[in-house]
This record gives sequence, structure tokens and C-alpha cells, in this order.
Amino acid sequence: MTLNPAYLVDFDGTITTLDISYELAKRLAGEGYEDIDHVYRQKEIPIREWLKRTAQVLPHDMDLLLSKSLEWAAIRPGFERFLENAAMQGRPVFIASDGFGFYIEPILRKHGFFEEVCFIYRNDTYINAEGKLEVKTPHAHRICNVCGNCKALHVVNLKKQGRPVIYIGDGSNDRYGASWGDHVYARDQLAEYSRQYKFDYSPWNNFYDIINVSKPDIKDRSENSLCCPQGRGIKI
Ligand SMILES: [Mg+2]
Repeated sequence: MTLNPAYLVDFDGTITTLDISYELAKRLAGEGYEDIDHVYRQKEIPIREWLKRTAQVLPHDMDLLLSKSLEWAAIRPGFERFLENAAMQGRPVFIASDGFGFYIEPILRKHGFFEEVCFIYRNDTYINAEGKLEVKTPHAHRICNVCGNCKALHVVNLKKQGRPVIYIGDGSNDRYGASWGDHVYARDQLAEYSRQYKFDYSPWNNFYDIINVSKPDIKDRSENSLCCPQGRGIKI
């Protein structure tokens, strides 16, 4: 049985205009962060390792990190209307994020959107028993160490339930989940990767661009996927 499509939506740089995890790192991290970011940009460490190392050089102060996240988070235009449209069309909205994660629910609650979201797949960042900031990645793949949050698995699981998935994102790591999507809205680095891999995608700037497409072309393209979330993970 084919159900209504679901939306799988990235958070940082997609729902919010800024990547809040990156802003926290760039503005608040102490000594050592430049080296961490350098090796990440050189593709010597994956995002999961960037999160864990960056947490070690951020202030170990959740109140500060949360207050700055709330202060800096602006919602991309059209998101409220997008949620209203999705509800009217019977399309559930899931969020999948591979950032620090702790600020997503507070930001959504502040703007009155939390109740409209079906589920949030995210990492968790908290102060551990030693008083240190620590990142947990409960949705990581059991073998593949690329992503902290295996967004591709969430797409595959929704598809197994009979729901086509419309993927909305902006970042380079979105390419794995997006490669399983039945329709992809891509901007910024995700659009660049989509062109590089010759994936069909719809460009978007804000959520009004998504609302304005009443019937997106939905088709399974999983033979072109970049990873096997139910197998060994990334395809080499
Ligand atoms: Mg993003």
C-alpha cells in the first residue's frame, strides 16, 4: 500500500537560516577548534568526529549554549505555511539533524512549531557526570562512521512503511539521505552534490518554493543511492 508522502527535513541551514552547530563552534569554541575544523574540511574526519571533538572545546555550559542557539536561530521564510500545507495534505513532517541537536526542540517550541512535527531524529549533547560536554549519536549506523545520524536509514524505514519520501536539505552530509529520496529539494552544498552525482533535484531558496510545487515528481531512485543503511553503510 502506498501512503501519502512524508517530508524528511534537515534542520540547520534548512529550517533555520544559519547552521546553529557551526555558529556555536565558530563563535564560542576555544583553543583547538581551528585544527578540528581544518581536518574536517580536508575530509580527514567525518561529521561524527567533528561533533565529538568540537564538544570538547566548547564551553561546558548548557545554559550558555542554549541561550545563544535561541538568540541566533532565525526560521527560514515560509516554514509555517509549509507545515500548514503538509498537515492539510496529510503529509507527516519528520526532522533529521546531524548537528548538536539539543537546541532543536527549544527553537521549535519558541516559534510554536514543535507540535506540528511528527518526530525528530537528532543527536544529543549534554553535560556528563564529569561535568564535560558530550555528544551522543543514538541514530548512528552500527558500522559506517561517516554520519552521526544515519538519515538514509530514516528515509529507508519510511519507504518500507509505504511512504514515499520528499527530502529537503542544504548540506553536504544530506547527500546520503537525499540519495534515497523519492523527490529532493536541494540548496547550497546539497545542490552542488546533486549536480555532481547527476541526481534530479528541485532547487529551493525558501519554503514558499516548496509550497508552490503542488505535485512534485515522485519516483523511487534508490538504485542510485550513495549508501546502504541496512547493510555496511557507505558505498566505497
Ligand atoms: Mg543543514
